[in-house]
Amino acid sequence: TEILSGTGITKSYGATPALRGVDVSVAEGEIVAITGPSGCGKSTLLHCLAGILRADSGTVVYRDQDLNLWSEAARSRLRRTEFGVLFQFGQLVPELTAAENVALPLLLAGSGRRDARAAALGWLDRFGVADLADQRPGAMSGGQQQRCAAARALVTEPRVIFADEPTGALDQLNGEQVLSAMVQVVREQGSSVVLVTHEAPIAAYADREIVLRDGVVDPTGIGVGA
Ligand code: ADP
Ligand code: ADP
Repeated sequence: TEILSGTGITKSYGATPALRGVDVSVAEGEIVAITGPSGCGKSTLLHCLAGILRADSGTVVYRDQDLNLWSEAARSRLRRTEFGVLFQFGQLVPELTAAENVALPLLLAGSGRRDARAAALGWLDRFGVADLADQRPGAMSGGQQQRCAAARALVTEPRVIFADEPTGALDQLNGEQVLSAMVQVVREQGSSVVLVTHEAPIAAYADREIVLRDGVVDPTGIGVGA
């Protein structure tokens, strides 16, 4: 069953067209990679699908609801509850420890401190960084920070995870470790993933690759994973 779709999505920045009529569909439990050359519109598409950017035209439908019709507050609530987002640089809160960073989405969702911390420790462990629970991001390597950021993106057990070059700042080994841990978790949870990447070994983790070129889906589908 389909969980998320975009139909006829267009988006321009001023006079620069970024998306020129894109159709995509993501099934429950499916991992979809969006690939294509730099500047082809991958990030813009991900931001539109995640409800972070509003498309100029076209529809984004999540579980039968058109997100373009929702208020900013409603979309923001959706992102906190049913969506998880992970970017190239994890954007951890520098003043908080790893465990506090990972617990944050649960606290925002109303969990108690003790439960949130216990869950955060469990998620740090799944990403192999339980020993860093009480460290602040500044004391961690890029790979360690991204593991924490991935744990934070998954801690609420979102139904859809949006990941924009989540391994782009990591070396290949770290990148694949973070991604394979993520894939294992989403397979268990049955969540879907929209993954923007330009790296073939990362795209290879996806069930399906959608190739963008110059703001449209390349019908040949020949991308980095081919
Ligand atoms: P990709 O993720 O594939 O590199 P983007 O979605 O980031 O592509 O960008 C698509 C096009 O839109 C590019 O031409 C880019 O320069 C332009 N663009 C992206 N974001 C902005 C912005 N905030 N302001 C102006 N132009 C932008
Ligand atoms: P990514 O593709 O990994 O998101 P980019 O370097 O394309 O990274 O974009 C980083 C940020 O800069 C994004 O917020 C994007 O919207 C913005 N951006 C990208 N291209 C442009 C542009 N031509 N003019 C202004 N802002 C841009």
